Amino acid sequence: MCSSDEQPLPPPAPFMWGCGKCWRLLRALGRKVTADAGCFTEQLAVARHIVENHPDEIPAPHTRGCDRCPGYAARNDGDPGELWAEHRARDLFLPEAVARLL
Ligand SMILES: [Zn+2]
Ligand SMILES: [Zn+2]
Repeated sequence: MCSSDEQPLPPPAPFMWGCGKCWRLLRALGRKVTADAGCFTEQLAVARHIVENHPDEIPAPHTRGCDRCPGYAARNDGDPGELWAEHRARDLFLPEAVARLL
């Protein structure tokens, strides 16, 4: 699941530079990537933090190249559990190919 050793993490979005919690979470993610220990939990932690604390920064739904956004958009019960928001938040700190796995 964590193929980030092949694809370096992109530079964090500007708002993440100004948030101490974002930094801590990203550093934890970076350490896991370096240690090749799998970083699934850390990815979820960063996405969850962004959804809860930086809701204005979540990217718009993907219109191309995403298997998941059309499915979420077709739901008529909104975004229960904010999984869609977490999916889009992953764009902010993961390479696209990794971000769209979830
Ligand atoms: Zn933050
Ligand atoms: Zn998407």
